[in-house]
Amino acid sequence: MPVWSERDEAGRELERRLGIRAERDASLAEHTTMRVGGPADLLATIRDRFTLRGAVRLAQSRGWPLTILGRGSNVVISDAGIRGLVILNRSAGATVDAATGVVSADSGLSMAKLSTIAAEAGLTGAEFTLAIPGNVGGAVWASAGAHGGEIAQIIQGATILHADGSEEELPREALELSYRSSRFKGEAGRGEVILGATFQLQRGDPELIRGQLEEIRRWRREHQPLGIPSAGSVFRNPPGDQSAGALIEAAGLKGRRIGGAEISTMHANWILNRGGATAAEIRELHELCVAEVQRTAGITLESEIVFLGEGAK
Ligand SMILES: Cc1cc2nc3c(=O)[nH]c(=O)nc-3n(C[C@H](O)[C@H](O)[C@H](O)COP(=O)(O)OP(=O)(O)OC[C@H]3O[C@@H](n4cnc5c(N)ncnc54)[C@H](O)[C@@H]3O)c2cc1C
Repeated sequence: MPVWSERDEAGRELERRLGIRAERDASLAEHTTMRVGGPADLLATIRDRFTLRGAVRLAQSRGWPLTILGRGSNVVISDAGIRGLVILNRSAGATVDAATGVVSADSGLSMAKLSTIAAEAGLTGAEFTLAIPGNVGGAVWASAGAHGGEIAQIIQGATILHADGSEEELPREALELSYRSSRFKGEAGRGEVILGATFQLQRGDPELIRGQLEEIRRWRREHQPLGIPSAGSVFRNPPGDQSAGALIEAAGLKGRRIGGAEISTMHANWILNRGGATAAEIRELHELCVAEVQRTAGITLESEIVFLGEGAK
């Protein structure tokens, strides 16, 4: 695959203007929970909001192809990798006002950290975020939720960069959050980057908050195939009584393997990388699920995970 023609110039500009030392041909597999994916032409790891804003604006003004990666927990990156600049977002600042219950976080803060910061301040409402192995930006993008909690229930608003580089504070309503759907997945959010978000939490009993976090940890250990690379739930649950997992199981696909990729025997809506899986194999299993559920139940499954990179779609 030919690399991106402006790579060398882009690398020099990132270093000269922002002090970023971007890596060439960096493997992306290690930056995703599925542990698959080829290289990025240029990978910049960014640790603060100021530099994130600067790098995105630079890429926008130059017309560089740009991909933002959070914790890589909802993506499958193609075996050919990603052309252009990939920003690995690790801007993880946060402020907590225990009196008002307002927490402001940079988009690179991990959701697990959000839950512990809130717990330490005696704030309740964010316990469920412990279960989401992404960061704030990825969680807003995905409209993530778990254990009866949804990001939409606690978010007040988000700071975003539009595709033209202008910055705006968007209130919750403008984020268009619904079940695993947000403005960032649709037309309105094309090219937008989430810089940070603000959450409204409530004062709570520290003992109860700690107990809730412990309960979430226990539930996950018992019900999810943790410790094996995956991207969590592969499909959204369709409307109706049957979950995506139940439909895949009923189609007889539980445990089905293609190469190193396997439909989990514990939770049929998860595809696992059993070792050495390729993105192409995961894609094949994904397509098999769609085709078989369509054939056996007449239901079209919609993807929750996103396929990124060259040849991904
Ligand atoms: C073991 C496991 C369990 C999981 N459990 C849950 C669960 O209980 N509930 C749930 O909702 N999800 C769950 N997930 C899925 C995943 O963790 C969430 O969707 C998460 O919110 C993704 O965040 P991320 O930072 O990893 O995003 P990434 O996977 O890095 O990115 C996802 C998409 O968001 C875009 N993006 C990322 N950051 C930004 C930004 N700052 N601005 C604009 N776009 C951005 C990326 O370009 C990409 O298109 C699970 C995943 C795993 C592996």
